[in-house]
Amino acid sequence: MDPTVDTMPLIDPFLRKITYLRVSVTDRCDFRCVYCMSEHMMFLPKKDLLSLEELDRICTLFIQLGVRKIRLTGGEPLVRRGILDFIGGLSRHLGSNALDELTITTNGSQLAKKSKDLYDAGIRRINVSLDTLDADKFRQITRWGRFDQVIEGIKLAKQTGLKIKINTVALKGFNEDELFHLTEWCHEEGFDLTFIEVMPMGDIGNENRLGQYWSLDDLRSRLETRYTLSDLAERTGGPARYVKVAETGQKIGFITPLSHNFCESCNRVRLTCTGELYMCLGQEDNADLKSLMRKYPDDNSKVIEGIREAITRKPKGHDFDYSRQKIDGQVARFMSHTGG
Ligand code: SAM
Ligand code: SF4
Repeated sequence: MDPTVDTMPLIDPFLRKITYLRVSVTDRCDFRCVYCMSEHMMFLPKKDLLSLEELDRICTLFIQLGVRKIRLTGGEPLVRRGILDFIGGLSRHLGSNALDELTITTNGSQLAKKSKDLYDAGIRRINVSLDTLDADKFRQITRWGRFDQVIEGIKLAKQTGLKIKINTVALKGFNEDELFHLTEWCHEEGFDLTFIEVMPMGDIGNENRLGQYWSLDDLRSRLETRYTLSDLAERTGGPARYVKVAETGQKIGFITPLSHNFCESCNRVRLTCTGELYMCLGQEDNADLKSLMRKYPDDNSKVIEGIREAITRKPKGHDFDYSRQKIDGQVARFMSHTGG
Protein backbone atom coordinates (compact mmCIF):
# COMPACT_ATOMS: atom_id res chain seq x y z
CA MET A 1 0.00 0.00 0.00
CA ASP A 2 1.05 3.59 -0.65
CA PRO A 3 3.05 4.66 2.48
CA THR A 4 1.39 8.09 2.45
CA VAL A 5 -2.02 6.50 3.00
CA ASP A 6 -3.18 6.78 6.62
CA THR A 7 -3.77 3.25 7.94
CA MET A 8 -3.25 3.86 11.66
CA PRO A 9 -5.79 1.71 13.52
CA LEU A 10 -8.67 3.30 15.36
CA ILE A 11 -8.13 3.05 19.12
CA ASP A 12 -10.56 4.68 21.54
CA PRO A 13 -9.75 6.37 24.88
CA PHE A 14 -10.30 3.07 26.72
CA LEU A 15 -7.76 1.36 24.44
CA ARG A 16 -10.43 -0.60 22.59
CA LYS A 17 -9.53 -1.22 18.96
CA ILE A 18 -12.36 -0.54 16.53
CA THR A 19 -12.55 -3.40 14.06
CA TYR A 20 -16.28 -3.77 13.47
CA LEU A 21 -18.61 -1.37 11.63
CA ARG A 22 -22.36 -1.80 11.53
CA VAL A 23 -24.07 0.14 8.80
CA SER A 24 -27.75 0.93 8.53
CA VAL A 25 -28.33 1.22 4.78
CA THR A 26 -31.95 2.35 5.05
CA ASP A 27 -34.47 3.28 7.73
CA ARG A 28 -37.28 1.75 5.66
CA CYS A 29 -38.74 -1.64 6.27
CA ASP A 30 -41.54 -3.87 4.99
CA PHE A 31 -42.39 -4.94 8.57
CA ARG A 32 -43.45 -2.91 11.61
CA CYS A 33 -42.25 -5.04 14.54
CA VAL A 34 -43.98 -3.79 17.66
CA TYR A 35 -40.77 -3.38 19.72
CA CYS A 36 -38.93 -1.65 16.89
CA MET A 37 -41.32 0.72 15.12
CA SER A 38 -44.61 2.44 15.60
CA GLU A 39 -47.28 1.42 13.13
CA HIS A 40 -47.26 4.73 11.31
CA MET A 41 -43.59 5.46 10.92
CA MET A 42 -42.40 8.59 9.15
CA PHE A 43 -39.41 7.70 7.02
CA LEU A 44 -36.61 10.05 6.09
CA PRO A 45 -36.54 11.89 2.77
CA LYS A 46 -34.30 10.07 0.27
CA LYS A 47 -31.95 13.06 -0.05
CA ASP A 48 -31.01 12.66 3.62
CA LEU A 49 -29.77 9.11 3.06
CA LEU A 50 -26.20 8.37 2.10
CA SER A 51 -26.03 7.33 -1.53
CA LEU A 52 -24.61 3.89 -2.28
CA GLU A 53 -21.45 5.60 -3.56
CA GLU A 54 -21.10 7.50 -0.29
CA LEU A 55 -21.68 4.28 1.65
CA ASP A 56 -18.96 2.57 -0.36
CA ARG A 57 -16.58 5.48 0.23
CA ILE A 58 -17.08 5.55 3.98
CA CYS A 59 -16.93 1.75 4.38
CA THR A 60 -13.72 1.69 2.37
CA LEU A 61 -12.19 4.36 4.62
CA PHE A 62 -13.08 2.39 7.72
CA ILE A 63 -11.49 -0.71 6.19
CA GLN A 64 -8.37 1.35 5.49
CA LEU A 65 -8.38 2.24 9.21
CA GLY A 66 -8.49 -1.37 10.35
CA VAL A 67 -12.14 -2.40 10.32
CA ARG A 68 -12.23 -6.16 9.57
CA LYS A 69 -15.94 -6.86 9.70
CA ILE A 70 -18.93 -4.99 8.29
CA ARG A 71 -22.57 -5.81 8.97
CA LEU A 72 -25.28 -4.23 6.83
CA THR A 73 -28.53 -3.70 8.62
CA GLY A 74 -31.39 -1.23 8.76
CA GLY A 75 -34.39 -0.96 8.50
CA GLU A 76 -34.50 -3.88 6.17
CA PRO A 77 -31.25 -3.81 4.19
CA LEU A 78 -32.64 -5.94 1.37
CA VAL A 79 -35.35 -3.42 0.49
CA ARG A 80 -32.79 -0.76 -0.44
CA ARG A 81 -32.64 -0.43 -4.22
CA GLY A 82 -29.24 -1.40 -5.65
CA ILE A 83 -28.13 -3.14 -2.47
CA LEU A 84 -26.90 -6.28 -4.24
CA ASP A 85 -24.61 -4.30 -6.53
CA PHE A 86 -23.39 -2.35 -3.53
CA ILE A 87 -22.56 -5.59 -1.69
CA GLY A 88 -20.90 -7.02 -4.77
CA GLY A 89 -18.72 -3.91 -4.99
CA LEU A 90 -17.79 -3.88 -1.33
CA SER A 91 -16.79 -7.53 -1.40
CA ARG A 92 -13.70 -6.52 -3.42
CA HIS A 93 -12.22 -5.93 0.05
CA LEU A 94 -12.85 -9.58 0.93
CA GLY A 95 -10.98 -10.55 -2.21
CA SER A 96 -8.02 -8.37 -1.22
CA ASN A 97 -8.11 -9.73 2.37
CA ALA A 98 -8.55 -6.24 3.77
CA LEU A 99 -11.88 -7.38 5.21
CA ASP A 100 -12.62 -10.68 6.98
CA GLU A 101 -16.38 -10.61 6.73
CA LEU A 102 -19.24 -8.79 5.07
CA THR A 103 -22.60 -9.85 6.41
CA ILE A 104 -26.20 -8.72 6.86
CA THR A 105 -29.01 -8.82 9.38
CA THR A 106 -32.37 -9.28 7.69
CA ASN A 107 -35.99 -9.96 8.50
CA GLY A 108 -35.94 -12.67 5.83
CA SER A 109 -38.76 -11.31 3.69
CA GLN A 110 -36.59 -11.00 0.57
CA LEU A 111 -34.47 -14.12 1.00
CA ALA A 112 -36.53 -16.29 -1.32
CA LYS A 113 -35.75 -13.84 -4.13
CA LYS A 114 -32.27 -12.71 -3.17
CA SER A 115 -30.33 -15.54 -1.47
CA LYS A 116 -28.48 -16.67 -4.55
CA ASP A 117 -27.55 -13.12 -5.52
CA LEU A 118 -26.35 -12.50 -1.97
CA TYR A 119 -24.15 -15.57 -2.14
CA ASP A 120 -22.82 -14.53 -5.54
CA ALA A 121 -22.11 -11.05 -4.18
CA GLY A 122 -19.83 -12.53 -1.50
CA ILE A 123 -22.09 -13.00 1.53
CA ARG A 124 -21.55 -16.30 3.38
CA ARG A 125 -23.33 -15.81 6.70
CA ILE A 126 -26.53 -13.99 7.56
CA ASN A 127 -28.52 -13.22 10.67
CA VAL A 128 -32.25 -13.64 10.29
CA SER A 129 -34.58 -12.16 12.89
CA LEU A 130 -37.40 -14.49 13.88
CA ASP A 131 -39.24 -14.20 17.19
CA THR A 132 -41.81 -16.96 16.80
CA LEU A 133 -42.58 -20.12 14.84
CA ASP A 134 -46.31 -19.50 14.98
CA ALA A 135 -47.77 -17.80 11.89
CA ASP A 136 -50.46 -15.87 13.80
CA LYS A 137 -48.03 -14.63 16.42
CA PHE A 138 -45.62 -13.70 13.66
CA ARG A 139 -48.26 -11.44 12.13
CA GLN A 140 -48.98 -9.97 15.55
CA ILE A 141 -45.36 -9.13 16.34
CA THR A 142 -44.28 -7.92 12.87
CA ARG A 143 -47.69 -6.34 12.10
CA TRP A 144 -47.06 -6.62 8.34
CA GLY A 145 -44.85 -9.69 7.93
CA ARG A 146 -45.77 -12.95 6.20
CA PHE A 147 -44.51 -15.98 8.08
CA ASP A 148 -44.61 -18.41 5.12
CA GLN A 149 -42.56 -16.04 3.00
CA VAL A 150 -39.89 -15.78 5.68
CA ILE A 151 -39.71 -19.53 6.29
CA GLU A 152 -39.46 -20.14 2.55
CA GLY A 153 -36.69 -17.53 2.36
CA ILE A 154 -34.77 -19.15 5.19
CA LYS A 155 -35.09 -22.54 3.49
CA LEU A 156 -33.75 -21.19 0.21
CA ALA A 157 -30.93 -19.32 1.94
CA LYS A 158 -29.88 -22.58 3.57
CA GLN A 159 -30.04 -24.45 0.26
CA THR A 160 -27.93 -21.73 -1.34
CA GLY A 161 -25.20 -22.41 1.19
CA LEU A 162 -25.59 -19.37 3.41
CA LYS A 163 -24.84 -20.05 7.06
CA ILE A 164 -27.72 -18.81 9.18
CA LYS A 165 -28.02 -17.46 12.69
CA ILE A 166 -31.49 -16.81 14.03
CA ASN A 167 -31.92 -13.73 16.24
CA THR A 168 -34.86 -13.88 18.60
CA VAL A 169 -35.93 -10.99 20.80
CA ALA A 170 -37.02 -12.42 24.16
CA LEU A 171 -40.47 -11.02 24.84
CA LYS A 172 -42.33 -11.59 28.04
CA GLY A 173 -45.66 -13.28 27.58
CA PHE A 174 -45.05 -13.57 23.85
CA ASN A 175 -42.44 -16.20 23.10
CA GLU A 176 -41.68 -17.58 26.57
CA ASP A 177 -43.70 -20.68 25.67
CA GLU A 178 -41.67 -21.20 22.47
CA LEU A 179 -38.24 -21.34 24.08
CA PHE A 180 -37.78 -25.08 23.55
CA HIS A 181 -39.52 -25.20 20.20
CA LEU A 182 -37.26 -22.46 18.81
CA THR A 183 -34.19 -24.16 20.27
CA GLU A 184 -35.12 -27.56 18.82
CA TRP A 185 -36.00 -26.10 15.43
CA CYS A 186 -32.65 -24.33 15.17
CA HIS A 187 -30.90 -27.54 16.12
CA GLU A 188 -32.77 -29.55 13.47
CA GLU A 189 -32.05 -26.94 10.82
CA GLY A 190 -28.40 -26.47 11.81
CA PHE A 191 -28.83 -22.79 12.70
CA ASP A 192 -27.12 -20.93 15.51
CA LEU A 193 -29.54 -19.10 17.77
CA THR A 194 -29.13 -15.87 19.71
CA PHE A 195 -31.61 -14.37 22.13
CA ILE A 196 -31.73 -10.60 22.59
CA GLU A 197 -33.09 -8.51 25.43
CA VAL A 198 -35.45 -5.81 24.30
CA MET A 199 -33.82 -2.37 24.42
CA PRO A 200 -35.43 1.02 25.07
CA MET A 201 -35.00 2.70 21.69
CA GLY A 202 -37.46 5.03 19.99
CA ASP A 203 -41.00 5.92 20.89
CA ILE A 204 -43.08 2.91 19.90
CA GLY A 205 -46.46 4.36 20.73
CA ASN A 206 -48.70 2.34 22.98
CA GLU A 207 -46.39 -0.64 23.41
CA ASN A 208 -45.02 -1.06 26.92
CA ARG A 209 -41.29 -1.77 27.07
CA LEU A 210 -41.13 -2.86 30.68
CA GLY A 211 -43.99 -5.22 29.94
CA GLN A 212 -42.02 -6.63 26.99
CA TYR A 213 -38.80 -7.18 28.92
CA TRP A 214 -37.87 -10.80 29.65
CA SER A 215 -34.48 -11.11 31.31
CA LEU A 216 -32.14 -13.57 29.66
CA ASP A 217 -31.01 -14.72 33.11
CA ASP A 218 -34.47 -16.13 33.51
CA LEU A 219 -34.52 -17.51 29.96
CA ARG A 220 -31.20 -19.24 30.55
CA SER A 221 -32.39 -20.79 33.82
CA ARG A 222 -35.38 -22.21 31.99
CA LEU A 223 -33.17 -23.69 29.28
CA GLU A 224 -31.11 -25.29 32.03
CA THR A 225 -34.12 -27.22 33.27
CA ARG A 226 -33.76 -29.33 30.12
CA TYR A 227 -30.23 -28.86 28.84
CA THR A 228 -26.69 -28.71 30.16
CA LEU A 229 -25.14 -25.42 29.12
CA SER A 230 -21.46 -24.66 29.27
CA ASP A 231 -20.03 -21.19 28.70
CA LEU A 232 -17.88 -20.78 25.63
CA ALA A 233 -14.85 -18.53 25.65
CA GLU A 234 -15.79 -17.20 22.22
CA ARG A 235 -16.09 -13.41 22.11
CA THR A 236 -17.12 -11.18 19.24
CA GLY A 237 -16.32 -7.91 20.98
CA GLY A 238 -20.00 -7.27 21.41
CA PRO A 239 -22.64 -7.83 24.03
CA ALA A 240 -23.16 -11.50 23.09
CA ARG A 241 -22.03 -14.41 25.23
CA TYR A 242 -22.28 -17.97 23.95
CA VAL A 243 -22.98 -21.35 25.48
CA LYS A 244 -22.78 -24.85 24.11
CA VAL A 245 -25.68 -27.22 24.66
CA ALA A 246 -24.18 -30.57 25.71
CA GLU A 247 -27.18 -32.66 24.59
CA THR A 248 -27.33 -31.27 21.04
CA GLY A 249 -23.93 -29.68 20.45
CA GLN A 250 -25.59 -26.46 19.28
CA LYS A 251 -24.44 -22.95 20.11
CA ILE A 252 -26.75 -20.43 21.73
CA GLY A 253 -25.98 -16.75 22.24
CA PHE A 254 -27.36 -14.25 24.73
CA ILE A 255 -27.30 -10.52 24.04
CA THR A 256 -27.90 -8.93 27.40
CA PRO A 257 -27.47 -5.16 27.27
CA LEU A 258 -29.86 -4.83 30.19
CA SER A 259 -29.03 -7.55 32.66
CA HIS A 260 -25.25 -7.56 32.00
CA ASN A 261 -23.26 -5.22 29.88
CA PHE A 262 -19.94 -6.05 28.30
CA CYS A 263 -19.00 -2.59 27.14
CA GLU A 264 -15.40 -3.01 28.27
CA SER A 265 -14.65 -5.18 25.25
CA CYS A 266 -16.72 -3.21 22.71
CA ASN A 267 -14.99 -3.12 19.32
CA ARG A 268 -17.73 -1.55 17.21
CA VAL A 269 -19.22 1.68 15.95
CA ARG A 270 -22.41 2.26 13.99
CA LEU A 271 -23.12 4.34 10.93
CA THR A 272 -26.70 5.46 10.40
CA CYS A 273 -28.35 5.60 7.00
CA THR A 274 -27.97 9.38 7.19
CA GLY A 275 -24.23 9.21 7.78
CA GLU A 276 -23.99 9.88 11.50
CA LEU A 277 -21.48 7.79 13.33
CA TYR A 278 -22.69 6.56 16.71
CA MET A 279 -19.89 5.46 18.94
CA CYS A 280 -22.34 3.63 21.23
CA LEU A 281 -25.80 2.21 20.47
CA GLY A 282 -27.04 3.42 23.83
CA GLN A 283 -25.80 7.03 23.77
CA GLU A 284 -26.88 10.05 21.75
CA ASP A 285 -23.44 11.47 20.96
CA ASN A 286 -22.55 11.16 17.27
CA ALA A 287 -20.46 12.61 14.46
CA ASP A 288 -21.91 13.92 11.21
CA LEU A 289 -19.80 12.18 8.57
CA LYS A 290 -22.28 12.88 5.76
CA SER A 291 -21.64 16.64 5.91
CA LEU A 292 -17.90 16.02 5.90
CA MET A 293 -18.13 13.70 2.91
CA ARG A 294 -20.28 16.18 1.01
CA LYS A 295 -18.02 19.09 1.91
CA TYR A 296 -14.89 17.22 0.85
CA PRO A 297 -15.90 14.98 -2.03
CA ASP A 298 -12.27 14.51 -3.11
CA ASP A 299 -10.39 14.75 0.16
CA ASN A 300 -10.55 11.57 2.22
CA SER A 301 -8.05 12.90 4.75
CA LYS A 302 -10.72 15.34 6.03
CA VAL A 303 -13.21 12.51 6.47
CA ILE A 304 -10.59 10.42 8.25
CA GLU A 305 -9.91 13.35 10.59
CA GLY A 306 -13.63 13.37 11.39
CA ILE A 307 -13.65 9.62 12.05
CA ARG A 308 -10.61 9.86 14.33
CA GLU A 309 -12.09 12.75 16.26
CA ALA A 310 -15.33 10.77 16.73
CA ILE A 311 -13.46 7.76 18.09
CA THR A 312 -11.87 9.95 20.78
CA ARG A 313 -15.45 10.45 22.01
CA LYS A 314 -16.39 6.77 22.27
CA PRO A 315 -17.92 6.46 25.74
CA LYS A 316 -17.14 3.79 28.26
CA GLY A 317 -20.61 2.25 27.97
CA HIS A 318 -24.35 2.71 27.68
CA ASP A 319 -26.80 3.55 30.47
CA PHE A 320 -29.75 1.30 29.63
CA ASP A 321 -31.28 0.19 32.88
CA TYR A 322 -34.63 -1.33 33.85
CA SER A 323 -33.55 -2.39 37.30
CA ARG A 324 -35.45 0.30 39.19
CA GLN A 325 -38.70 -0.84 37.58
CA LYS A 326 -38.64 2.13 35.29
CA ILE A 327 -36.84 2.69 32.03
CA ASP A 328 -33.55 4.51 32.35
CA GLY A 329 -31.14 5.37 29.59
CA GLN A 330 -33.75 5.36 26.84
CA VAL A 331 -32.54 6.82 23.56
CA ALA A 332 -34.89 8.73 21.28
CA ARG A 333 -33.86 7.32 17.94
CA PHE A 334 -35.26 4.11 16.52
CA MET A 335 -33.19 0.97 16.18
CA SER A 336 -34.02 1.00 12.46
CA HIS A 337 -32.22 4.34 12.04
CA THR A 338 -29.04 3.28 13.80
CA GLY A 339 -29.20 -0.35 12.76
CA GLY A 340 -29.70 -3.15 15.27
N1 SAM B 1 -34.79 -5.55 9.58
C1 SAM B 1 -33.68 -6.36 9.93
C2 SAM B 1 -34.07 -7.40 10.95
O1 SAM B 1 -35.16 -7.31 11.51
O2 SAM B 1 -33.28 -8.30 11.16
C3 SAM B 1 -32.46 -5.60 10.42
C4 SAM B 1 -32.69 -4.42 11.31
S1 SAM B 1 -33.38 -4.81 12.90
C5 SAM B 1 -33.44 -3.21 13.64
C6 SAM B 1 -32.00 -5.63 13.66
C7 SAM B 1 -32.31 -6.39 14.92
O3 SAM B 1 -32.68 -5.48 15.92
C8 SAM B 1 -33.43 -7.41 14.80
O4 SAM B 1 -32.96 -8.66 15.24
C9 SAM B 1 -34.50 -6.87 15.73
O5 SAM B 1 -35.21 -7.92 16.32
C10 SAM B 1 -33.67 -6.10 16.72
N2 SAM B 1 -34.40 -5.05 17.42
C11 SAM B 1 -35.16 -4.07 16.91
N3 SAM B 1 -35.63 -3.26 17.89
C12 SAM B 1 -35.15 -3.75 19.05
C13 SAM B 1 -35.25 -3.36 20.42
N4 SAM B 1 -35.95 -2.29 20.80
N5 SAM B 1 -34.60 -4.12 21.33
C14 SAM B 1 -33.86 -5.20 20.97
N6 SAM B 1 -33.72 -5.61 19.71
C15 SAM B 1 -34.36 -4.90 18.76
FE1 SF4 C 1 -38.16 -3.93 10.35
FE2 SF4 C 1 -36.20 -5.31 11.49
FE3 SF4 C 1 -37.41 -3.29 12.82
FE4 SF4 C 1 -38.75 -5.51 12.37
S1 SF4 C 1 -36.89 -5.32 13.61
S2 SF4 C 1 -39.51 -3.41 12.01
S3 SF4 C 1 -37.99 -6.15 10.45
S4 SF4 C 1 -36.19 -3.10 11.01
